[in-house]
Amino acid sequence: MGVFDHAEFDDHESLHYFYDASTGLRAIVAVHSTALGPAAGGTRRWSYSNESDALTDVLRLSRGMSYKNAVAGLKFGGGKAVILASEETPKSPELFRAFGRCVDSLGGRYITAEDVGCSTDDMRYVREATQFVSGLPQDAGDAGGDPSPWTALGCFGGIEAAVQARLGADSVAGLRVAIQGVGHVGLYLCRLLHEAGAKLVIADVNGDNLNMTTDAVPATVVSPSELLFADVDILAPCALGNILTSHTIPKIKAKIVAGAANNQLSTPADGVRLAERDILYAPDYVINAGGIISVAAEYYGEGSEEDVRSDVGRIRDRLQGIFKEAKETGRPTHELADELARKMVAAAR
Ligand code: NAD
Repeated sequence: MGVFDHAEFDDHESLHYFYDASTGLRAIVAVHSTALGPAAGGTRRWSYSNESDALTDVLRLSRGMSYKNAVAGLKFGGGKAVILASEETPKSPELFRAFGRCVDSLGGRYITAEDVGCSTDDMRYVREATQFVSGLPQDAGDAGGDPSPWTALGCFGGIEAAVQARLGADSVAGLRVAIQGVGHVGLYLCRLLHEAGAKLVIADVNGDNLNMTTDAVPATVVSPSELLFADVDILAPCALGNILTSHTIPKIKAKIVAGAANNQLSTPADGVRLAERDILYAPDYVINAGGIISVAAEYYGEGSEEDVRSDVGRIRDRLQGIFKEAKETGRPTHELADELARKMVAAAR
């Protein structure tokens, strides 16, 4: 199948393949839309089974960034990068400098930051080769830096909104929350949930991350295969996408799905399946916009950490609006969010 016929192509403006002979870097940058500003979205470094999986991932993630940035009201279009990880190309300063040169060659059409498999430190090496990067270490009080705590904070507000809409409760105190993936975002989210009195059930495929989390908060550890189907009130996916499918949804016991992972729905039909089971779904790109809100403030040099906090606080309001409309119209939440996002991007075009 060619790129233009790809099921996830969805009117992408451009797609860029990069190879750097000195480091072996292989990367793909997808620019879905620059209608609202330069295409912004993080870089995922992942070991894909094949190049075709990497292409599918970057196309879905990049379109999701267009939607996320539009709904969050940011002066950013949508884009994303993936670095194809392999044993022959381990993480190194040279690899990220080479990637920075790739980003720089796009002349500002694409702005990068960290995503799964990358850190604030990695972005420092990218910065040595390009100005088109955000999510760099900042001085105290300045906006920006690691986006993960902001993503977690936005998710926490979104979970509270969902709890109110679906369970009629004012807080998560006493509720059971299953967190899939306790990496950068998952750990911060666990802390916030624990402080608010929630009971945590966690799983991760990375033992170090599990240990770090159980050192920080009380949590019941279950296997990754059990986590999605745990007997909990809320499921918070904070690992990878494509987890809500026709196979998994019938077995989910949670009444709410609300977490940070991108592309949680395998297909739009899965959003309908959740609604049919009366499981309230917080559209992923609405609830997980906290990080990109911080990235935007850093990139444009606008606002302080406190301004970012208040902008991230609006994620809760946006979700409350979507949940209310879903209740009034009987339509699934993902459809309402997609409709809003598409309208905003189309109007800017
Ligand atoms: P991360 O790589 O730090 O953490 C992901 C964690 O999930 C890791 O600990 C990994 O071992 C674990 N994991 C992977 N597969 C798993 C499985 N099958 N079961 C259980 N655990 C599994 O990434 P992150 O930055 O915390 O991001 C998490 C998710 O949130 C991603 O989907 C990312 O795209 C999305 N997201 C992150 C941000 C951010 O600010 N970091 C912003 C928006 C969206």
